[in-house]
Amino acid sequence: MADIYLRGGWIITMDRNRRVIKDGAIAIEDGNIIAVGKRESLDPQYKHYSDIVLDTDKDVIIPGLINTHVHLAQALLRACADYKRLIPWLKERVWPLQGNYKPEEALVSAKLAVAEMLKSGTTSFLETGLVGRYGIDNIIEFLHESGIRAAVARHVMDLKGYALEENILHEGLVETGESSFNDTIRLYNKYHGWDSRIWIWFGPRTPGAVSVELYRKISEKARELKTGITMHIAEVREDVDYTMKLFGKKPIEFAEWVGLTGPNVTLVHVVWVTSEEIRILAKTGTSVSHNPSSNLKLASGAARIAEMVKNGVNVTLGTDGGPSNNDYDLIREMKLAALLQPLITGDPEALRAEQVLEIATINGARALMIDHLVGSIEVGKRADIVVLDFNKPHLKPLNNPVSHIVYSATGSDVKHVIIDGRLVVFDRRILTFDEYKLLEEADKAAYNLYERAGLCREPDLKWPIF
Ligand SMILES: [Zn+2]
Repeated sequence: MADIYLRGGWIITMDRNRRVIKDGAIAIEDGNIIAVGKRESLDPQYKHYSDIVLDTDKDVIIPGLINTHVHLAQALLRACADYKRLIPWLKERVWPLQGNYKPEEALVSAKLAVAEMLKSGTTSFLETGLVGRYGIDNIIEFLHESGIRAAVARHVMDLKGYALEENILHEGLVETGESSFNDTIRLYNKYHGWDSRIWIWFGPRTPGAVSVELYRKISEKARELKTGITMHIAEVREDVDYTMKLFGKKPIEFAEWVGLTGPNVTLVHVVWVTSEEIRILAKTGTSVSHNPSSNLKLASGAARIAEMVKNGVNVTLGTDGGPSNNDYDLIREMKLAALLQPLITGDPEALRAEQVLEIATINGARALMIDHLVGSIEVGKRADIVVLDFNKPHLKPLNNPVSHIVYSATGSDVKHVIIDGRLVVFDRRILTFDEYKLLEEADKAAYNLYERAGLCREPDLKWPIF
C-alpha cells in the first residue's frame, strides 16, 4: 500500500552507489520514499494497492533538480537587458527596473519563475536576495503554497557598492545594515523550517556593498542560527580589482577573511579565481553555484568548474535570472555546463554527464544543507521526483539515459513532478496554482513596471515590427 506508485522506466537514483535501475519502480507514502527497486519485485505489493499508480515505463525518473541561484524578481525582466556587461547591465537596466517594482508585480515575477522551474523539473531552489520593496512575506507564502522547496536569502547591505558615486539605487533596493539584517531575523523567526520546505538565509550583497563588520556579524549569526549564506563573488574582473585594491586580498581570500566560507555558504559565479582560491573553497567545504548561461551572455568569463570538481569543491548549478540567462530551465543549463568545460580545458572528458547530474541534484542538496531530505531517490528520503517523457524523437534510441538528460533533453520533456510526496505537476500541468491566469497577469504586470521605469517598453529588436 502506497500513496503514489511509479511503475517502470529507468530510475537514476543518485544514491550513494549511484544505482541506475532499468524497469524500476518507486513507492511513496506520507511524502517518504518507502521502496525503490525492480518493477517486477515491487508490483505484487503496490500495483493494485496504491491510491495513485503512474505508468512510467517509457520514461526516465530522476531526483528533483536543485537550482542554487535564482532571482525571483527578475522573471519579468526577461529580454530587458540583452547585450550588456554586468555593471552597465545592472546600472542601466536591472536596478532601475527592480527599483520600480510594486509588491504585487514582484509577486507575479516570483510566480512566473516558480512556474517555469516546476515545469522544467526544479523541485528546490536558492533565491539569492529579496529586498523589502518586493513584499517578501507574500512571496514566501506563495512559495509554500506552490509546493516547491526554497531557501530564501534576504539581501543584507550597508554600503552602496558600484552605485557609490551615483544615486541610482531606488528606495527599497538600498537598505541600511540594521534594517536589512533585522528583517532577515524577523523572516527567520517567522518562516525558517516551515514544513521542511522553506528556509531563510542571509544574502549579503557583493563586496563593496557590505562593510567588513556586517559580513562578520552575518557569518556569526548564520552559524548561531544554523542557517545559510549566499553571495555573488568574483563574477567579473572588476570584483578582483575591488578586493585587491581595498584589502589586498583576492575575492575568496576576502570571503574567508570576513567569515564567508564554510559548509553553510554558497558562493555564486566564482569565475575570476586562482587555483589557490579553489583550494580554499575545497578546504572550507564552501559550495559554488555555477551559472554558465549568465556568465557567457554577459561576457563575464568561464568558471573553471572541472578544476573545482577535481579539487573536491561542492559545485552546484544555477540559472541566475530573466535578464541574464534568460530562462530558469536547469536542464538546459546542464547542457551548457557540460559543454563549456571541454572548450576551456581542451579535454572532452573534463566534465562527464554523470558529474553534471550530480552537480544539479545531490550537490545542490548538500549546498542547501538538505541532503538528508532530498537530492537522491532512496528509501527514507522525502519524495522529490521528476519524470521525464523519453518517448520522443530527440531522446531515441534510449541507450544512455544520463547522456540524454544532459545533452539532449530540455525542460519541456518534464512530464510529472512530485515534491514532498505531492503531485505538483501532472502531465505538464501545474496543480497547485493557476498557471494560465498567471500568464495573463505577467504581461500586465510587466507593462506597468516598464511604463513606470521608462524602460523596456520597446523590444530591443533590430527588425521592424508590423
Ligand atoms: Zn545573480
